[in-house]
Amino acid sequence: MNKDIYLTNNLKNKKEKFIPIHKEKIGMYVCGPTVYDNPHIGNARPLVIFDILFKVLKLKYGINSVNYVRNITDVDDKIIKSSKEKNILASELTNNIIKGFNDDCNYLNLDEPNQQPKATDHVDLMIEMILSLITKNFAYEKNNHVYFAVNKFEDYGKLSNKKLEDLIAGSRVEISENKKNVEDFVLWKPSKDDEPFWDSPWGKGRPGWHLECSAMSKKYLGEVFDIHGGGIDLIFPHHENEIAQSRCANDTKVFANYWIHNAFITMSNEKMAKSTGNIIKIKDFKENVDGQVLKLALMSAHYKQPLDWNEKLLEDCKNTIDKWYEVYLPTNDKIVLNEDILSPLFDDLNTPGYIANLHQLYDKALKGNNEEKILFVLACNFIGILNKTKEEWFEFKKKKSTINEDDILEMIALRNKAREDKNYKKADIIRDKLLDKGVLIEDKDGKTIWKIK
Ligand SMILES: [Zn+2]
Repeated sequence: MNKDIYLTNNLKNKKEKFIPIHKEKIGMYVCGPTVYDNPHIGNARPLVIFDILFKVLKLKYGINSVNYVRNITDVDDKIIKSSKEKNILASELTNNIIKGFNDDCNYLNLDEPNQQPKATDHVDLMIEMILSLITKNFAYEKNNHVYFAVNKFEDYGKLSNKKLEDLIAGSRVEISENKKNVEDFVLWKPSKDDEPFWDSPWGKGRPGWHLECSAMSKKYLGEVFDIHGGGIDLIFPHHENEIAQSRCANDTKVFANYWIHNAFITMSNEKMAKSTGNIIKIKDFKENVDGQVLKLALMSAHYKQPLDWNEKLLEDCKNTIDKWYEVYLPTNDKIVLNEDILSPLFDDLNTPGYIANLHQLYDKALKGNNEEKILFVLACNFIGILNKTKEEWFEFKKKKSTINEDDILEMIALRNKAREDKNYKKADIIRDKLLDKGVLIEDKDGKTIWKIK
């Protein structure tokens, strides 16, 4: 594929042509879940967006040319708090949540990253990095805590494009008498008696959150790599701190070349917040919504734009997928999609543009021959849609319906009788009753056909 990939690089505040360091060995690191609770729909957005980027990179550079690392944060204040409330070990909680997270990724039909390293397996590397930062005078110890001295790193704030004072003023910074300056952030802190701990030169304790991504990206991708991604809320402080730690410890001019961030999801135009209870977990959709419907909804807005989540969006996406299955044909063909079709995805992951192309391909497939139908199915498959057979799709829809086939046929017979008797009012009432139960009927060539909505 000759087409170039363009991405909005937040480090430069502009859209840029993607030029990898090594074409055969592209490194992409995305901040993954903190496993204290099952992921919600807001967490699903970066999973889907960076999965699309992974697919586009593999298509352009070759299936084995991309090393995609998505970490798992399995030690953290929220994990400790939640495991204490549940009266279980932190590791028991995190193992359960990781299992649920992997199920959610399968439900969304995501390609598996090459590495999913856990923070707790890499604490030795984090200690090594802290020692190096202390030796180089970028970090200091006080009362069993180690802090990074932000004023020693002159590029701090460059990713957010803000001055240090403005960053500090706009965030909740932890106040501690152990810190030399208020903006300094913790690299190591002591653990309480009932908390997970590791031995270190500064006593029994645990690492600060930001450090794990610096240590694990170095191990799996090297000191300088291509792409770093995550949600927009991670830019400050998390990503600023990752850059500071890595560049100072490794003595490099750059950490990752391209920084890509996805925007928030709102719920019916309100900010998602646990306190207001308007958070939906991915697992709560599984019973009633097929994973590909959820996925299409998550791709319906450009990743840089906020996405408003509401019932209508899901309903529209369900109807779209349903319509698309009308031209579905099973295929094992390996047709290479042409550049025109793929062009929106290469242009800064423009998923709404790609979906518009799919609609056009559908129109052609509807009127066209099998070859056009297969091309449409393959274009859908590329982004993980229409990955189920038509039978599986209908099976799922049928399962959801509260009415069985015998009852449907009986009601249709009653409606036909009413129509014969010219009792159209009664016939309409029966039709509406079926519609309420999710059954759509249509009179065609003297026969009544039905389908689940
Ligand atoms: Zn991170």
